[in-house]
Amino acid sequence: MPHQNYIDGQWVAAKSGQTFESLNPATGEVLGTVPKSGLQDVDAAVEAAARAFPKWRAVPAPRRAEILFRAGELLVRRKEDFARMVTREMGKVIVEGRGDVQEAIDTTYYYAGEGRRMFGFTTPSELPNKAALTFRDPIGVVAAITPWNFPTAIPSWKLMPALVAGNTVVFKPASDTPILGAMLVELLEEAGLPPGVLNLVLGPGGVVGEALVKHPGVSLVSFTGSTASGTEVAVEAARQVKRVALEMGGKNAIIVLDDADLDLAVEGILWSAFGTTGQRCTAASRVIAHQAVRQQLLDRLAPRAAQLKLGNGLDETVNVGPIINAAQLQKVHGYTEVGQREGAVLLLGGERATEGELSRGFFYRPTIFDQVRPTMRLAQEEIFGPTLSIIPVRSLEQAIEVNNGVPYGLTTSIYTADVNRAFQAMRDLTTGLVYLNAGTIGAESHLPFGGTRKTGNGHREGGWTALDIFTEWKTVFVDYSGRLQRAQIDLVPQTGENP
Ligand code: NAP
Repeated sequence: MPHQNYIDGQWVAAKSGQTFESLNPATGEVLGTVPKSGLQDVDAAVEAAARAFPKWRAVPAPRRAEILFRAGELLVRRKEDFARMVTREMGKVIVEGRGDVQEAIDTTYYYAGEGRRMFGFTTPSELPNKAALTFRDPIGVVAAITPWNFPTAIPSWKLMPALVAGNTVVFKPASDTPILGAMLVELLEEAGLPPGVLNLVLGPGGVVGEALVKHPGVSLVSFTGSTASGTEVAVEAARQVKRVALEMGGKNAIIVLDDADLDLAVEGILWSAFGTTGQRCTAASRVIAHQAVRQQLLDRLAPRAAQLKLGNGLDETVNVGPIINAAQLQKVHGYTEVGQREGAVLLLGGERATEGELSRGFFYRPTIFDQVRPTMRLAQEEIFGPTLSIIPVRSLEQAIEVNNGVPYGLTTSIYTADVNRAFQAMRDLTTGLVYLNAGTIGAESHLPFGGTRKTGNGHREGGWTALDIFTEWKTVFVDYSGRLQRAQIDLVPQTGENP
């Protein structure tokens, strides 16, 4: 079935008539054909969103939220259909496909709840007979640009807070997962969003994404993807002093101290490094291991990693799905070659898996390098695949220094039984998320999510903090004294008398 753009409440082809295919990375099967949009499609979508904005912002937030509640209910009912499509279009194993959709459900309900909160502040004025209060205002047309690795969850992080806050949206999902983008928009249409409030434009980032960022009708760009693309987005947005919220790359680490529960650590490492085939922004690609336990840890970890079953994620017994596409597979293997050239010790994997059915997809064996030095490219650059580097250290202080010494700052985990060292780590680790005795994965939709350094530009998605991205504060003063009162000039005596 052909999937289409959604503009002003209509499902339409790209103006050029061009299309491209969405493929299953595990099998090479063509899942569908979608519009390859261009500048005219972007213009039409932004104009529709701009026209819809005044009416949508005037709808009371609790009423807007009712549509989100309905969307949440529809998602619950269709969770399995969505999850299976997540596995088919993105490749993650079905249990994680269900998790991706569950995160979208949680997020949708959370922001539906915000429709009846979105609190402002009231505060005393410095002058008598004067009130001071604040409101959150929507910003206008939001461009939501998303990656392929969480094809329902990440769009929900942007669409739901943007919509409940009264913005209108043009959504551009990744070209590797366009069908899921269309499915989510269909569901929101069915939930009752009026025409023009949410628009979908499918097509290449370098055309559609860039045009959205440059479009003067777009007031805010909310982008999740690589630091390279995000930097381009930021540069373009800066030319128009446009608001931009960026969630970008990671180089996350698990620190294992000498008093850690090693069995527990192994479980956390397997899940964080090889879950989603390492293609999570929160995936652990470094284990910073205390030298006293490094060998014991590896003796437990490597055989378990070797046993992980690769295959089509629809098979419930499979642990590790494919890599998203041929280019990414090539990139991951390129890092194996880099690691070998740099002198790291390849313990496991390091090659494409091609036996039997695997030859039809983009499969790569779970890969572990030992004796990685913190300055190596393997330890510094985001790989976004199932490649794990073991970095030996001799103390907590050194572990923290190694953890913080990368260009990214999304998530860190630390395994220790010592409360003093745990609190020292919580204080000194400079990532946006810290886990104690759990892996680097496990964000929840009602809490702030985002990273430091080149992972982001200071915003936090998730929870109430996302509203700071999608709204602007308006401060209102109400002077009911009936005369001119001058702030900072008419100093009122501190006698309690009302002059
Ligand atoms: P990507 O190549 O940067 O693409 C992300 C999105 O941006 C896609 O929709 C892409 O379109 C579009 N795009 C590409 N170039 C653009 C441009 N010049 N202007 C505007 N839009 C553009 O990233 P990806 O490979 O999809 O995703 C993997 C990356 O996302 C990793 O670095 C990962 O760490 C990061 N990520 C971060 C978080 C977080 O919360 N920090 C979460 C998930 C993923 P096309 O698909 O058409 O190219």
